[in-house]
Amino acid sequence: MSDFDTAQICLNGHIICSGIKVHPEKKQKYCQLCGSETITKCNHCSTDIRGNYTPGQYNPTPMDKIPPPYCYSCGKPFPWTESKINSIKELTDEIESLTNEDKESLKNSIADIISNTPRTELGANRIKKYLSKAGKEVSQGFRDILVDIASETAKKILFPTQ
Ligand SMILES: [Zn+2]
Ligand SMILES: [Zn+2]
Repeated sequence: MSDFDTAQICLNGHIICSGIKVHPEKKQKYCQLCGSETITKCNHCSTDIRGNYTPGQYNPTPMDKIPPPYCYSCGKPFPWTESKINSIKELTDEIESLTNEDKESLKNSIADIISNTPRTELGANRIKKYLSKAGKEVSQGFRDILVDIASETAKKILFPTQ
């Protein structure tokens, strides 16, 4: 048996319960915060979403308050990550001051900043550069989404504390 419990998370990334094997009574079909459906499995490979670490099921260690961005089994983004990536891509298309090439480059940088990889700093600096060319409104919209999905390293570059 796996040492991990299974988490139930809504499609927008609200964690409903991080241990439904230990607490099956906490299972619910919809999210009470946003009304979306909830899932317990990856929608790509059907692997259970990893929840609390439960050796012997006693004293479970709670999972992070932040839902995992990617499936550990197939590496694909979970729905909440995918929808944020899509909103960022839509916003990117609204930046009139960028060339199509810039837009593609910005879109490709998004994957680099979600988790810490050797490309995270590069990606974050690139996004920062493009956002400085965007209007105030668009870049604020970007920030609101990025703050939820960017890794700690990326956040330090994107949102330096003044
Ligand atoms: Zn929700
Ligand atoms: Zn998967």
